Amino acid sequence: MAAAMEHFRERQVDQSYHRRRIQMVHGEVSYHLAQVLTGHGCFGTYLHKYCNQATDACAQCGTTPDTPEHAVFQCDAWHKWRTEACVYLEVDNITPENTTAIMLSSTNSWERVNSLFTRIMMCREREERRVQRGGV
Ligand SMILES: [Zn+2]
Repeated sequence: MAAAMEHFRERQVDQSYHRRRIQMVHGEVSYHLAQVLTGHGCFGTYLHKYCNQATDACAQCGTTPDTPEHAVFQCDAWHKWRTEACVYLEVDNITPENTTAIMLSSTNSWERVNSLFTRIMMCREREERRVQRGGV
């Protein structure tokens, strides 16, 4: 899975052709999509390493480590949202291997994947703020 995520990131971020194509066809990479691609954001791995979070576990399901690929592709907490996106996109599953191709296939597909990632990340951020405030 890690190697597949590398492949996903490389295709999305490092290849200037794809970056230009993404920007031309679909607009800029969004704030939350950038978090997923870089791993810098509301992920257990990042918060544990850089933000003094006690654990790198997923706040939603307890899986360790809570990586970007866990957050958007695997975490059971968002299974229903992923399934809805798959129905819309007419794919069996959303994986690091097929996400680039899905996103580049049409503007609607780009927007659907982007909105799925944004929705997941916004919920995770809300949960993280709640935990930081010591909420229950
Ligand atoms: Zn999880």
